[in-house]
Amino acid sequence: MAGIMNKDFDAIVVGGGPAGATAGLVLAREGLKVLILEKKSFPRFKLCGGMLTQKTIEFGQEIIPGFMSQMDTRGVIEASSKTYVIRSTDKILYKGRSKYSFVLINREKYDLLWMDQLKDSGAKVSIDRAVQVDIQDSRVITSAGKTYRGRFIIGADGSGSRIRKALAGKKIVQPPGSRSSALALETFVDRNAGGFSAHPELFLGMVRDGYAWSFPGSRKQVMGICSARIKDGRILKELLLELLGARGVANPEHHKIQAGILPYGDYEKKPGYKNLLLVGDAAGLAEPLLGEGIYYAHVSGSLSARAVLECLTKPDRCSDLYAQLMGRIISSMRKRLLFRKMTLGLPPSLAEKSFRILLPLLARKLEYKIQGPHAGI
Ligand SMILES: Cc1cc2nc3c(=O)[nH]c(=O)nc-3n(C[C@H](O)[C@H](O)[C@H](O)COP(=O)(O)OP(=O)(O)OC[C@H]3O[C@@H](n4cnc5c(N)ncnc54)[C@H](O)[C@@H]3O)c2cc1C
Repeated sequence: MAGIMNKDFDAIVVGGGPAGATAGLVLAREGLKVLILEKKSFPRFKLCGGMLTQKTIEFGQEIIPGFMSQMDTRGVIEASSKTYVIRSTDKILYKGRSKYSFVLINREKYDLLWMDQLKDSGAKVSIDRAVQVDIQDSRVITSAGKTYRGRFIIGADGSGSRIRKALAGKKIVQPPGSRSSALALETFVDRNAGGFSAHPELFLGMVRDGYAWSFPGSRKQVMGICSARIKDGRILKELLLELLGARGVANPEHHKIQAGILPYGDYEKKPGYKNLLLVGDAAGLAEPLLGEGIYYAHVSGSLSARAVLECLTKPDRCSDLYAQLMGRIISSMRKRLLFRKMTLGLPPSLAEKSFRILLPLLARKLEYKIQGPHAGI
């Protein structure tokens, strides 16, 4: 093992996105010596639609005092709407009004808010990339050549997680993308470049095992598409350009389109090993129907912290407890993946027809499950 041992920590968290920031924050507030290794300096860009549900807002309010007012002051909130529309490219399939608002955020500012809280909590944040993890000796080696030992290691390093890959290399978990991941494309368009509504819209029946979206912001409209079935980005790009054209955007091909991986039902049943835990996208925790990941990143971060706190004297038992705490989430992910396969997984025209029938019957129930309540977990 290369490198000099730099320092020992109670917990090393790799990645400072919503999952890692939550885990680090909770642990540092409890007085643990926490190191966050984050490869990028914040604010950093993260490809995202930026939609928050009510349960995420409730979670934020539990953890950060004055969460909503801080989001307001820092200009995190771009738009909010109780109305939403589910449609095919040319027809409205369902128009709903939720009890709570869907809140659209600026992701860079949102993650910076959490990062600032993390720093205030006393956690040490180091801008450095984890390049290797030694599972046996509980050590992380960084690109700056530093070696850190942690009593616990939390892998919060996103959809291409190096920590998950290290565990997969030992056949402890599946590698990222084994169960189901989606290729996701997104573009940010000036709102006055096309005819955009003031509420979020979801487009069904365009792709198999996925959907497209159009979310309002204060100045930009976020348009995106994802599919767990289509792995060729050129096909998704063509479809996204068509959607932009249909919204009246001139020269859609001139807009920058970016691609990312959404671990869309790529959840690991037991996301960890002994004192090493996976959280958020690293554990494949984007919800399998709509791809919501921010909430599950926060909640898994928080549950991983709870498992660590309860296993301080028995670190090797931590992943068992964490898996137990995550049980309800994993079981709901399994059901939603099955539901997706039976609906969005159908050929697009059949999916559209089935949603036309199902939405008036199920929309209220689905809306309730998607919006919250957070206390249910
Ligand atoms: C196109 C798209 C649209 C989406 N839209 C939404 C949406 O509208 N609403 C929603 O809820 N979810 C959405 N998601 C999902 C959501 O973005 C993720 O689920 C969420 O970001 C997961 O948080 P995380 O903290 O686990 O990972 P991330 O936010 O990816 O954070 C991981 C962090 O780890 C750091 N890192 C990575 N590797 C290393 C390393 N080796 N060493 C050190 N640091 C490292 C990264 O720099 C990053 O800061 C979307 C995803 C995509 C791709």
